[in-house]
Amino acid sequence: MDEDARIAGWLRDADRIVVLTGAGISTESGIPDFRGPNGVWTKDPAAERRANIRHYVADAQHRRDSWRRRAAGEAYAGAPNAGHVALAELERRAALHTLVTQNVDGLHQAAGSSPDRVIEIHGNVREVKCLDCGRRSPMAEALDRVRAGDDDPHCTECGGLLKSATVSFGESLVPADLERAQDAAAGADVFVAAGTSLGVYPAAALPELALRNGAVLVVLNAEPTPFDGLAEAVVRERLGTALPAIVEHI
Ligand SMILES: [Zn+2]
Repeated sequence: MDEDARIAGWLRDADRIVVLTGAGISTESGIPDFRGPNGVWTKDPAAERRANIRHYVADAQHRRDSWRRRAAGEAYAGAPNAGHVALAELERRAALHTLVTQNVDGLHQAAGSSPDRVIEIHGNVREVKCLDCGRRSPMAEALDRVRAGDDDPHCTECGGLLKSATVSFGESLVPADLERAQDAAAGADVFVAAGTSLGVYPAAALPELALRNGAVLVVLNAEPTPFDGLAEAVVRERLGTALPAIVEHI
């Protein structure tokens, strides 16, 4: 039996599938990888410093530049690819419980994955959050204010700084999101890691939790990961090819 059919069989028989996706699934949509081994930030420490929350808070010019770029539509253009679409289809064909993603681009939901099954552990760019009171509001509203001339919009409730609702370097993850992801992983019988190097915590803790509770681990990633030796199957093909090939066998 070929590898795709073997993986498809585990998915078909599973009662609780948890999928974790990383930058590798979205690079095929033209979205740059920031944190990975060949990521924008990894290769350019200055860019990483600029991405740090302290820099954002301290540097008004940096904030104005960020808002201007977003308002001009220069950030996060990109459409779902065949890999995203296959994961949306997986939800229709098998017992997908939770889709945890390290990506902030919203492409899983755009491809048709149910928003209530998706956990975005690094946040998202559809919303903005106030760094003081935590209030969340739609990104579109903030961008309307920027286009109307407010070049560094602040919170309408408390006057605090606004930032996209992503988790920047130097910021903590949202504990409730992380807990949900951990609970899902701990109860998985099949855990699929797709397009993630599994090198950074807390994402790397998820396959660990799944394995500890007896899950079958499948790794789909172009580069080796620390979990390859523990996986029942490792696939190196690009996700836009590998995921549809697996899902169509279910
Ligand atoms: Zn506020």
